[in-house]
Amino acid sequence: MFEALIRFVREQYRTNDFIPLHAPVFKGRERDYVVDTIESTFVSSVGAYVDRFESDMAAYTACGKAVAVVNGTAALHIALLLAGVKPGDLVITQSLTFVATCNAISYCNAEPVFVDVDRHTLGLSPKSLEAWLTDNAHVDPDGVCRAKADKRVLRACVPMHTFGHPVELDLLVSVCKRWSITLVEDAAESLGSFYKGRHTGTFGALGTLSFNGNKIMTTGGGGMILTDQALGQRAKHLTTTAKRPHPFEFFHDEVGFNYRLPNLNAALGCAQLEQLETFILAKRELASRYAGHFANTSVQFVCEPAGCRSNYWLNAVICESREQRDAFLKATNDKGVMTRPIWALMNRLPMYADCRRGDISNAEWLEARVINLPSSVNSGVAP
Ligand SMILES: *Cc1c(COP(=O)(O)O)cnc(C)c1O
Repeated sequence: MFEALIRFVREQYRTNDFIPLHAPVFKGRERDYVVDTIESTFVSSVGAYVDRFESDMAAYTACGKAVAVVNGTAALHIALLLAGVKPGDLVITQSLTFVATCNAISYCNAEPVFVDVDRHTLGLSPKSLEAWLTDNAHVDPDGVCRAKADKRVLRACVPMHTFGHPVELDLLVSVCKRWSITLVEDAAESLGSFYKGRHTGTFGALGTLSFNGNKIMTTGGGGMILTDQALGQRAKHLTTTAKRPHPFEFFHDEVGFNYRLPNLNAALGCAQLEQLETFILAKRELASRYAGHFANTSVQFVCEPAGCRSNYWLNAVICESREQRDAFLKATNDKGVMTRPIWALMNRLPMYADCRRGDISNAEWLEARVINLPSSVNSGVAP
C-alpha cells in the first residue's frame, strides 16, 4: 500500500526530489508589491499595504473589521484579552491542537480546560463541551459561568478548525450562549473554509488567522484578528502600543503591545490573498485525488464535514492502528515523501499536564492514528 501511495504522491508533484508537507507558492504579484515597499521606504510600521490587507481580508471573510498583527499567536493573545479573559480565568479548548492555542491562553495568565474533539471534524465537540459544563460548572445569578469546584470563571471557549475542517459551529454557538461563555475561534488553519456559507472565524466575538510560512497563504510571519467594528478598534489600539492618534505627540493610554504587522509583510499578504481562491481550488482537487486513492483501503481519508467548504490546508488520513501509522510514517519519510503524525495532546506537555479535562477519548484515539500528507499547492490542478 505504501509503495502505491509514494508513487501516487510523486505523480502529483512530478518530482523525484524530497516532497515537503507544505511549501509556499509565490506566482502572483508578490515581487512587485514587496519591491514597491522597499522603493517607497515604507517597509515597517506604517504603510498602505497594511490598510489594504486588512480591508481585503475583512471583505473576503465578511467580518466587521480585520486587524493585522505579527503572527497568529499574537492575534489569539489579543483576541482573548478582548474577550475579557483575566488572570485566573479558565478557557475551554481542545487537547488536540497546536500548542499556540494554549500558549495564548497562558499569556493572559488564564488556564486551559480540555474537552474532547469529534472524530468527523477533528475539532472541539459541542457535545463534549456541554457534558463537561453540566458536570463541572453553573451560571451564577450574576450571569457569569463558574466552575463548581472552586468558583473560577469560565470566560471563553476556543475551538480550533483542525487542518481547515470547520467544527460544528451552529451547535457550539448555542452551547456557548446558553452557558454565557464567549466564543473565540482559532481559525489559524482555516482561511478560506466556510461553514454553511459563512467564513470560519466570524461566528464568535473574535476569530484569528495565521499567515506563517506553512499556512495556506503566507506573509512570512503574520496573523489577523477578525471581529466587529468596536472590538476591531480596540484590537488596533492595543496592538499598536495604545498610542492616542496625534500628528506628533506621544501619549499611550494603557499598556499596549507592539504586535503590528510590518508593511513589508502586508505587501506579500496582499499578493497572496489575490491567489487564495486559486490555491483552494488546487487543494480541493488534490484532496479529491487523495480521497480516490484511499477509497477501498484500510486507511480513511479525512473529508470536509457536511455543509462546509474546507480549504483542505493539510490533507489527512486516519490509520487503523498506531502500528499501521508508524509503518506508514517510516515507509514514506524513508522515501523522501514527507508525512507527519498529528500533535501530541496538550495534556501530555509538562506545562499543561495538570490542567482540568473531561473525557478526551476521541482525541486520544485520533492522536494515535492521524497522519498528514504532502499538501502544497503547486501541482493540484496541473493537467
Ligand atoms: C499556526 C497556528 C497558530 C499560530 O500561528 P503563528 O502565526 O505561527 O503564531 C495558532 N493555532 C494553530 C492551530 C495553528 O495551526
